[in-house]
Amino acid sequence: MRALCWAGAGLVEVRRVPDPELRNAQDMIVRVRRSTTCGADLPLLAGRVPEASAGEVLGREFLGDVVEVGPEVRRHRVADRVVVGAAVACGACWFCRQAMPACCDNGTGGVAAEPQWGQPPAGGYGRPARLGGFAGGHAEYVRVPYADVGAFAVPESVSDERAVFAAGAAPAGWYGAELGEVAPGDVVAVWGAGAVGQLTADAAVARGADRVVVVDDRDDRLRMVTGHDGVEALNHRYVDVLAELRERSGGRGPDVCVDASGVTAAGPGRWPAVEPDGGAALREAVHACRKGGVVVVLDARPGFVDRFPLGAFADKGLAVRAARRRGGAAIPALLERMARDELVTEHLATHRMPLERGAEGYALFRDRADGCVRVVFTP
Ligand SMILES: [Zn+2]
Repeated sequence: MRALCWAGAGLVEVRRVPDPELRNAQDMIVRVRRSTTCGADLPLLAGRVPEASAGEVLGREFLGDVVEVGPEVRRHRVADRVVVGAAVACGACWFCRQAMPACCDNGTGGVAAEPQWGQPPAGGYGRPARLGGFAGGHAEYVRVPYADVGAFAVPESVSDERAVFAAGAAPAGWYGAELGEVAPGDVVAVWGAGAVGQLTADAAVARGADRVVVVDDRDDRLRMVTGHDGVEALNHRYVDVLAELRERSGGRGPDVCVDASGVTAAGPGRWPAVEPDGGAALREAVHACRKGGVVVVLDARPGFVDRFPLGAFADKGLAVRAARRRGGAAIPALLERMARDELVTEHLATHRMPLERGAEGYALFRDRADGCVRVVFTP
């Protein structure tokens, strides 16, 4: 089959790779209809993840049609259209039973993370195999392990371009608002107007926030925020963000501050990288947050962030919560919301291309060029 593969630092290309096969009774094979770029790919593309090897298939978020099921798959049949959650979780370990699939002990082979983090997180698609990854969705076919746990039927009325965002971006955004315990009347600030930031703003509105303000330095993305989500926007380049946020929250500061600024591909270095110039959004979020508020980090940065303002957490009595992924549990409710037109995501697919143009798509996505928020590929 054809698949978009990592081929070295800064290099992706479509290659011929072997078709995936069922390996376990709970596996199924999905023929991909759509897949999308993800900011978490960028350190890998930049060559900052030494565990990557050339030829690994990229693609964390995808949806497609079931073409083959293992003997223990109960919830899916051949020809079902499904979206697949970005975390690979078993559904049966202690963490999965506590509704923390992104912390699954069995979906992973990510022992490389243990020396740095103490424990490995769940595995995911399109990540290096040595970091617990599985072949990704920028391909004609994908093997989906634990299919009953990680894949979800898409309602007929929801388009592929909308549903593909239920794989990772929408669950992450919704989780950001949930971790922040956004409540009616809250003022919420979100750093980053990419897909996850925009979806966090949507989720905050859905939970009844009084004001939602998105902070970014790109006018094209902020126009999407004000036009589509109907929330407020602040551009770093033109305004004093901290003063504006104080002004818009009765002088106290936002109740919930979410860092959804994600990663950039900039800079050399190795994983896990210390980012001496990274973390600016996080520091600003901590600074802006009202005393006793909640700071949520929705992050895909693989390493360390320097100059973490620990003192502010104690002196301001802040709570910090963090997640990289939600796992699948939230996906059915998001798909239902999409079917009711209460969650609209297809506008985030600013660029739609055949998989053959993967290198061009990733270059646009990396550079945020031509108004690119996400590229959606059709294999
Ligand atoms: Zn598990």
